Amino acid sequence: MGHVDAGKTKLLDCIRGTNVQEGEAGGITQQIGATYLPAENIRERTMELRADAQLNVPGVLVIDTPGHESFTNLRSRGSSLCDIAILVVDITHRLQPQTIESLNLLRMRNTEFIVALNKVDRISGWKKCKNAPFVKAIRQQTEDVKDLFNMKLAEIKTQFQDQGLNTELYYKNKEKGECLSIVPTSAISGEGIPDLLLFLVQWAQKTMVEKLTYVDKVQCTVLEVKVIEGHGTTIDVVLVNGELHEGDQIVVCGLQEPIVTTVRALLTSHPMKESRVKGTYLHHKKIKAAQSIKITAQGLEHAVAGTCLHVVGPDDDMDAIKNSVMEDMESVMSRIEKS
Ligand code: GDP
Repeated sequence: MGHVDAGKTKLLDCIRGTNVQEGEAGGITQQIGATYLPAENIRERTMELRADAQLNVPGVLVIDTPGHESFTNLRSRGSSLCDIAILVVDITHRLQPQTIESLNLLRMRNTEFIVALNKVDRISGWKKCKNAPFVKAIRQQTEDVKDLFNMKLAEIKTQFQDQGLNTELYYKNKEKGECLSIVPTSAISGEGIPDLLLFLVQWAQKTMVEKLTYVDKVQCTVLEVKVIEGHGTTIDVVLVNGELHEGDQIVVCGLQEPIVTTVRALLTSHPMKESRVKGTYLHHKKIKAAQSIKITAQGLEHAVAGTCLHVVGPDDDMDAIKNSVMEDMESVMSRIEKS
């Protein structure tokens, strides 16, 4: 999240792209509304930083549509669409109105987040160190550049303080939890990207042991509702936990009433290397979390983005599910009314 032009899209390109451009995609897949980074890829890219730190997560799913309608719609009592957010700040522009807006939204939702202090390469005199860990990159800079960086960092820390938040460079931050971590990055030359990836993985491993455990119960959030030629109205969802199957009976929140329907197809994008085959999708009989998926089914025209999708099991009480689904709608409506 962050202000327009802070570099959100470019950062994602950079996270996705480095190895792909060099012809070693390392299994990164650009999914529907998200990018999946497998552990193997993260391992390679964080090699210099990691020493002997263990990577236990299978990978990271980065949801790449900042300011998604669904994020604003998410119910405050903790839908788990995202576990940690990255707030992108342009070091040359410091905190801007939308940065503060995003900051408040994240705080309101109690979402964990870190700050990517982006565009460090635009500091006057910056010597590029392609894809280097930040500490290594800053060591290569002249004293003047280091001073400029420290000055800008101090200004930004003060701005965060004005918003009631203590911040610190992530590698100096001894009070994670109390104090927000800042990871300096460049989306153009890649400095700090290994740091950002390693931070996300280590944070997940430290704080989310239980959440990272795979469970059978489906947890799934609707990201977007889209009409796709040849498929009719489809929903793009993030499957956070559990498994979806073709033919599953699902209940989704609709504008007027709950939508009860059957999964006709589970679709994902082609892996990156094959992205030439635009407009076609891979079909799956079943899909396990975490993934972003396009679902086709009948009657999805009035589905509401930002709400949960439920799968009906053989012993489930349909009325209870319908009620629970529509509670999402009530909270979306009350938020719209408030704003
Ligand atoms: P978004 O609106 O937050 O998605 O911002 P974009 O990713 O579209 O970036 C806005 C502009 O800033 C583009 O012209 C990018 O090329 C440029 N940009 C983004 N990140 C960096 C960076 O780290 N360094 C430099 N020099 N330019 C950047």
